[in-house]
Amino acid sequence: MSSDELAWSCNDASNTTTSTLITGGAGFIGGHLAERLLAAGHHVICIDDLSTGSVSNVARLSDYPGFEFVRGSVLDEKLVDGLMSRVDTAFHLAAAVGVQLILQESLLGLRTNIQGTENVLDCAHRHGVRTLIASTSEVYGKNPAAPLREDDDRLIGSPLIRRWSYSEAKALDETMAYLYWSDLGTPVVIARLFNVAGPKQTGRYGMVIPRFVDQALRGERLTVYGDGKQTRSFCHVWDAVDGLIALLEHPATYGKAVNIGRPEEVSIRQLAERVIAVTGSVSTIEHVPYADAYGDGFEDTMRRVPDIALARELVGFDPHLGLDDIIMSVAAEHGSAATNGSTMSLG
Ligand code: UDP
Repeated sequence: MSSDELAWSCNDASNTTTSTLITGGAGFIGGHLAERLLAAGHHVICIDDLSTGSVSNVARLSDYPGFEFVRGSVLDEKLVDGLMSRVDTAFHLAAAVGVQLILQESLLGLRTNIQGTENVLDCAHRHGVRTLIASTSEVYGKNPAAPLREDDDRLIGSPLIRRWSYSEAKALDETMAYLYWSDLGTPVVIARLFNVAGPKQTGRYGMVIPRFVDQALRGERLTVYGDGKQTRSFCHVWDAVDGLIALLEHPATYGKAVNIGRPEEVSIRQLAERVIAVTGSVSTIEHVPYADAYGDGFEDTMRRVPDIALARELVGFDPHLGLDDIIMSVAAEHGSAATNGSTMSLG
């Protein structure tokens, strides 16, 4: 499909119940979210500038009644305003994400993540659109608490260290969203996403699970950065999408920031071993110094585990897919590539 064909509307969806805008709708999470809402009969408009999103994430949606795709930027206020005037709810997922992207395109990231969010909030307010702002566990910075609760402090390094620019931008987004709610009454909820993974995620900008699965399926060494003792908690994208939808549906969440993730903590070394075991790969593990992976002076987050009691209490959030489910679902979509190589089997 050429980019010239990238604005289409499937049919007249004027009779469907809820109209929803998804910014970043061609991204990894946006594509899954759009599919879930379309399957439930929503009219869904995805806007994406395709800078990191992919046509393949939305092309599969074009058969659904009520699907529209608009190629454009959240920095285009007129465009966002026009789209907001047509919907009841909005999920703001458009953002520059991924450690590699943040380090390489720091200024562009700031602009998208701050100005884009301000546009979205402004237009949502003008049209009374119920809105979810996607944030990140990165806002906690290097706070060593585990699990992390929503009221735990932010602990980050100097504003002159570019590694923290994503955390800074997202924290500012949260403050803006909160003030739109508290001072202007805009119905907005903030979701702090903790390492969401699953099919269709690209490893191009960091994202360890698609990278490890790809390396395992190719029989290449899995590149564990540092000593591999740093931990993360991975949440399957289908569980995360359930959480996002539930958050936006419940007015009790407005004005709040809520953790969305799955509190199963795993070290990155253990993750690499798990990927090798689950995929039946012959790969080995290589430890790569942080400086080689990210450049000098990079400071990784050493622990990251969500406390999801608030999401449970507010909307009954209950993620049930585990780490092996994530690895298997990512490996399954690479299945054909796997059978072409002689180095592994999907047991
Ligand atoms: N990581 C790794 N090898 C890779 C990519 C990432 O060891 O090829 C590590 C990375 O240093 C971090 C963890 O995996 O400690 C999660 O990285 P990711 O970029 O997926 O997410 P984030 O750091 O934003 O949580």
